Amino acid sequence: MNPNYTLVAERASHQCEYCHAPELVFNFPFEIEHITPLSKQGADSQENLALACRSCNLRKGNRVSGVDPDSNTSVRFFHPRQDLWGNHFQVN
Ligand SMILES: [Zn+2]
Repeated sequence: MNPNYTLVAERASHQCEYCHAPELVFNFPFEIEHITPLSKQGADSQENLALACRSCNLRKGNRVSGVDPDSNTSVRFFHPRQDLWGNHFQVN
């Protein structure tokens, strides 16, 4: 297990920092991922680590942006340390 797991998981209240799925429901620990990937010069620091469910971590991969299908423009992904979740996501 990642040595930063306890700190990152407690900071995230044991919820995926991207989709807010509760870790408890999945019955196994979520993954510790680098918000800015190491391959994109992200730091291996606690500030750059986020708790992510398997689905979010796989979809994000080593990317920090994607193409918005509505505008067909490149947009930066949600950043758990810089952005407010409610400004980026909507639950219907
Ligand atoms: Zn998730």
